[in-house]
Amino acid sequence: MSDVFAQLKAIVGPKGFTEDPAEIAPHLEEWRSKYTGRSPLLLKPATTQEVSAVVALCAQTGTAVVPQGGNTGLVGGQIPFHGEILISLTRLNKIRGLDVKDASLVAEAGVVLTTAQKAADDAQLMVALSLASEGTTTIGGLVSTNAGGVNVLRYGMMREQVLGLEVVLADGRVLDLLRSLRKDNSGYDLKQLFIGAEGTLGIVTAAALKLFPKPEERATAFVAVPDVHAATNLLAILQHRTNGLLNAFELVSRSGLDLVLAHIPGAKDPLAAPSPWYVLCEASGIAGIGVVFESALEKALEDGVAVDAAIAASEAQRENLWRLRESLSEAQKLEGPSLKHDVSVPVSAAANFIATAIAAVTHRLPSARPVPFGHLGDGNLHFNFQMARGADADAYLAHWDEIQQIVHDIVHEHGGSFSAEHGVGVMKRAALKRYKSAAEVELMRTLKRTLDPKNILNPGKLVPD
Ligand code: ZN
Repeated sequence: MSDVFAQLKAIVGPKGFTEDPAEIAPHLEEWRSKYTGRSPLLLKPATTQEVSAVVALCAQTGTAVVPQGGNTGLVGGQIPFHGEILISLTRLNKIRGLDVKDASLVAEAGVVLTTAQKAADDAQLMVALSLASEGTTTIGGLVSTNAGGVNVLRYGMMREQVLGLEVVLADGRVLDLLRSLRKDNSGYDLKQLFIGAEGTLGIVTAAALKLFPKPEERATAFVAVPDVHAATNLLAILQHRTNGLLNAFELVSRSGLDLVLAHIPGAKDPLAAPSPWYVLCEASGIAGIGVVFESALEKALEDGVAVDAAIAASEAQRENLWRLRESLSEAQKLEGPSLKHDVSVPVSAAANFIATAIAAVTHRLPSARPVPFGHLGDGNLHFNFQMARGADADAYLAHWDEIQQIVHDIVHEHGGSFSAEHGVGVMKRAALKRYKSAAEVELMRTLKRTLDPKNILNPGKLVPD
């Protein structure tokens, strides 16, 4: 093994590796501290050729690797649990090109999302993807996990943003699919295999992303609604009246807002009277979209679909409204442990799902405090249950699997998915086996065996044994 390590270190050069446990440590633990791994060697290749040479050697020697981007994943997909070699892609951090006419950008895997957003913005264009961890998360990780976020309603998940990919295969070959074509109907769309594959089929080293026109104007409101059913009615009204120009439609429960107000410095309730539910919604487009948006909100208020609304009158107010939504995870973390779910159901089933699942979980765990929130416009809910204050954390978190299965069963009954945007990793492999058909699971195994016959790429993740 030491001989293999020596060869790997020679490939990446002195700046491209570390064996120092203190330097490796931050790469071994995920953000929520739910998963901790171990790895003797962190490789930080700087080029696709180095990644290729590393993987080729690992293939020859049967050495397992775990690729990692910004380490913001939430299901353990980026953590080496069995002493695998960790490959951080963060030194592949070049934007290789941006073409205004093609409205596309080619970024290497380690480019941080905000860097790509800035490059597009400078060209009067926009990367559609936006999520809370955008200052840390990388393009390769976003592609590999098919990331979602707050703009999926309008622009789709990462899968829909990717025009082309460069991927290092399990034997070290570089698969160049880095095209920026909008139409390419020339056989299997192979790049799709690697999007959302969590590094189990290949290592993404670069991606060509779609860019969109930068909106001239954004209209943002924090709206009180009486219940979730009304929230989904509000969605329909706003989509109809803005002709589909909503880019975000986020549900916030009063319980969630209370946590933000309690824990996030400077957070203020934008509305005078409390409401059990809120929606943070935003439309964007050409100048004048705000007038259309406000008249749509007035209609919703007249119809009783909405009770009150705070409309952002400046960019600073807009940022304050968004901070309420984006701080929910942080506020939950500061409050204490939560049992968490990332699920989706059809929008039409969301109200019924939330009521049914809250009843089922609180029947089992009466002290659990429901804090559901999320991307209601996509039917994606971060369906969380906060521990009661002063309760025993270990005892509470011991219920994770049991509560998860209760929630996932109800999701399944409502025609939904046990993983909306966070992926499978290690956390949801059992769920994948439980809810996918035998044919789907077997086809996934077949793909894994075909593309990674030695099982060296992120083994033990995503695909059930
Ligand atoms: Zn989310």
